Amino acid sequence: MIRMKSFEENRPTLFLVPTPIGNRNEMTPRAIEVLKAVDVIACEDTRTSGQLLKFYGIHNRLIAYQKHNEEPSSNGILKLLEEGNNIALISDAGYPLMNDPGQVLVSKVVELGYPVVPLSGCNAMLNGLVASGLIVQPFVFVGFLPANQNDSAKLLEKYVDYQETIVFYEAPHRLEKFLQTLLKVFGNRRICIARELTKMHEEFLRGTIEEMIPIANELKGEMVVVVEGFTNDNQEKLQDQDILRLVQDYLDQGYSKKDAINLVIKSTGLKKNDVKNLVFQQEK
Ligand code: SAM
Repeated sequence: MIRMKSFEENRPTLFLVPTPIGNRNEMTPRAIEVLKAVDVIACEDTRTSGQLLKFYGIHNRLIAYQKHNEEPSSNGILKLLEEGNNIALISDAGYPLMNDPGQVLVSKVVELGYPVVPLSGCNAMLNGLVASGLIVQPFVFVGFLPANQNDSAKLLEKYVDYQETIVFYEAPHRLEKFLQTLLKVFGNRRICIARELTKMHEEFLRGTIEEMIPIANELKGEMVVVVEGFTNDNQEKLQDQDILRLVQDYLDQGYSKKDAINLVIKSTGLKKNDVKNLVFQQEK
């Protein structure tokens, strides 16, 4: 067991400091105070963070700590701690470690017995989750799925039976594919897309996965996707009326019947003949 008081001994410390995810007024006075007081600030990109910190009148020494070279970067930071320096870790935006670099560093600092002190503050996941209207506790935070759709689907399979609300991060250009994979693996569920949090164009879209797919390409900016967990009501996989509604959504967007059917086949992984028969049966 390692038991450690954060402020009792005067040991070199690693501070985890969140920075705004959009609205610069969300930087806390404590965050500014700590960032001014430490000896070194480790960040993802010294130019991006340099500009942000200048806004708050912080002119401390910055060093780069990046996800792709966490191992060597953390050794450098550990050496600085061992030499008696206090370090703050920040990321480009939000909370460090939350889909941002820091995991390796924190593990090593804990292992070596130095205090790790977290400050409260900005994190897109929490904003999205608490305002989603879905059950908040318990929840699972997944963050970004892998870029490859097959890998994404495989990972999602793991969560199919989870009753917990599940929170994802997603980039706008991947949203439609992500929702299609989600529909294919989870079936239709309630979700909330929280966009541009804390910024002027902040928006929440609450509805079902099926309702979001047709408009996914219109949605821009940064986004959090909150998905309802498994319930007795949503356990059914796609029903006939769900499939017909998907086809209709594409027809409403101006696609031909053939293209609409092909798009539904592509997004759901259903067999071509099944979808075709369903559509033709309905027309009889
Ligand atoms: N460390 C950050 C945090 O604590 O939220 C997350 C960094 S991660 C590299 C960036 C992703 O977080 C974005 O692609 C988006 O999914 C989400 N995100 C960040 N800022 C956001 C915002 N203002 N509104 C919605 N989502 C945001």
